[in-house]
This record gives sequence, structure tokens and C-alpha cells, in this order.
Amino acid sequence: MTQIRIEQIELRKVSLPLVTPWVSGLHQFAERESIVVRIRTNLGEGWGECPALAQPTYSAEYTDSAYLMCSEYLIPMLLELERPSAETFRAAARSIVGHPMAKFGIELALCDLAAQIEGCSLAGLLGGTATQVPAGVVCGTQPDAASAVATVSALVTQGYRRFKIKTEPGNDMEILSALREVFPDLQLGVDANSAYAEEPEAVRQLDQFELWCIEQPLGAEDLLGHAILNQALQTPICLDEPISSLEHTVTALTLGAANMVNLKPARVGGLLEACEIHDLCQQRGVSLFVGGLLETGIGRAANVALASLPGMTHPGDLSANARFYQEDIVSNPFELVDGSLTVPTGPGLGVVIDLDNLERFTTRVQQF
Ligand SMILES: [Mg+2]
Repeated sequence: MTQIRIEQIELRKVSLPLVTPWVSGLHQFAERESIVVRIRTNLGEGWGECPALAQPTYSAEYTDSAYLMCSEYLIPMLLELERPSAETFRAAARSIVGHPMAKFGIELALCDLAAQIEGCSLAGLLGGTATQVPAGVVCGTQPDAASAVATVSALVTQGYRRFKIKTEPGNDMEILSALREVFPDLQLGVDANSAYAEEPEAVRQLDQFELWCIEQPLGAEDLLGHAILNQALQTPICLDEPISSLEHTVTALTLGAANMVNLKPARVGGLLEACEIHDLCQQRGVSLFVGGLLETGIGRAANVALASLPGMTHPGDLSANARFYQEDIVSNPFELVDGSLTVPTGPGLGVVIDLDNLERFTTRVQQF
């Protein structure tokens, strides 16, 4: 293969208005900040997105810390590589502790580029086989049962196939009882983002609603607590926040802390690591789906590519771009058709960057 020569790297911080403010037990925001990476080379250009959130509420990283990590460490490191590629970058980036989302943003641009050079889609590069992926949707925290029923009803009408609602102790029973009364057969799950850490016993009450998962009820580091719940409950316990690497996944599964994994490629530091976690879960027969972080069109395309892998047992958190963004930085957003999104077949990510929108939503830019 011809040697890749990097000509320029562009790092952007962007801020996109959301259709409606996002509310969960962790945070609330009306604009989605994110980071976009563009790598220009002699063989074409690759795009990546680092979807760290504006505040360090979901993980330790946040937009400004990831921007700094990219500009001060990861981009200079990439520019020094003799043979730049996703693999060589991943190996070099191991010398830096943590910062998986920043690493993911750059690795994604390199994977996009690699797929284009190979003349295949990103999904094809990763070993994806599905041409359509069923779409699941996540509902933010609902103030009461009536709002929850109205929100879920609207999403059912749109055609989503699988539902996950943010939950916390307090009005959880009331909300889930109301949802089950209206939608007895809905594929319904909950995500607690650790909200039950102080009252783990309250999680047991959720077992009566025939949920497809209870995601992350306890603290991100409480593998033991999750293992105890997982043994006691009928409902599958799913882990999200602690799944930060292949190594952590092995530990969590070996301890029996989960029998389902929410796989977010940004949280594990890149698509290559995510594929290894996929393979592990597939070998062990562990349920798996792709999670989301309200990505713009670039990160969303990476999630859709990952979701096309054969070991995905459940629809991912893969809503259409329009669920969050009236205007995106891609001009060919994913659309929901018969409850699925179409996996792009064009070279690389398969998205067309809307350069005008990208410029309009940029709040900071730097070239290297
Ligand atoms: Mg989650």
C-alpha cells in the first residue's frame, strides 16, 4: 500500500443546537458541544469526532480537556509517526494514560481514511455484515408518568423498535407502571447512570417490569454490587460506564457483573478496541449493543458501522440524526425507515460533510 503522508490536521470545537434540551440524572444541555478532526493526506482525507460532553459528568473527559489532549499530545504524536495508520496511532497512544474519547476522535479519522484507501465502507473495514441496522432510542429523564407515556408514544409512532428510558429512584415505579400499562409488549429497558448507587435494594423492584435491560444501576466502579444484582435479578444487568477497555470487559464478565454490554467506541478509546470487545462478547455469548452519546453525523456513522457487526444482539442506541439535530454537519443524515437505519456502502464513513454548517457551528479551530 502506498505510504500515507499527512499534509494537515484540522481540529475543531463545534456547538450544535439540539431539537429539544437533553435531560438525564447526570446533566442537562440545549447545545451539543463536540470535537471534529479532519486529517488531510496525500491519499485523501479522513474525518473523526470526539464525542466527549461539555461537562465531565458521564466520564472524566469533557470537550475542552479532549481538545487540549488532541492539540497538545495526540496530534503531535500522530505527526511524528513514521507510518501513520489507525494501528500505529493506537499503539503509540497507549503511552498516554486515559483520554479514550480524544484517542477515538483521531483513530476514527484514520479508520475512515483506511477504508477509503481500501475502497470499502467503514462497516466493511470493521467486518460488518448487516446492510440495515434496527434502531433503538433513548429517552431522557421524564418528570412524570404522563410525560413518559407521551414521549414514548411519539417515538413508537416514528417507528423505533427498542426503547430505553433514563430512570432514577423516586418516580421510577410510577413511570414504569404507566408505560407497561399502555405498552405491555414494548421492548423497554432502563438506564440509571448510577442513580441507584446509594440504594441498591431499590433496583430489585425494577425486575417486575419485564425490561430488556437494567443499565448501570450502581456506581461505575461497583462491579461487585452489579454482580450481586445480576445474580439476584431475572432482568439482564447491562454495564456502560465501566466498560472502558477490553481488559475491563474481561474483568466485568468474569466477575458476573453483567450479562449485557453497552459498547460505545469512544468510551473504549477507538473502533479497533471496540471490535475486540465485540469479538469477546460474541465468543462468550454475551448480549451486546452499540450505545450513543448524541453524536453528530460523523460519530453517528461510526456507531452505525459498528452496529453492523454480526455479534450485535440488540438494536443499538442509534436514532436518526433528526431526533437530536435539526441541522447537522453532514448533508446525508441517517433516516429512520421501517425502524432501521441503512449502513452506508460508500467508501469510508459514507457521510458527506456540510462544510458550510461545519464552519457555522465551529467555535474554535486550529491547524497543525
Ligand atoms: Mg448508559
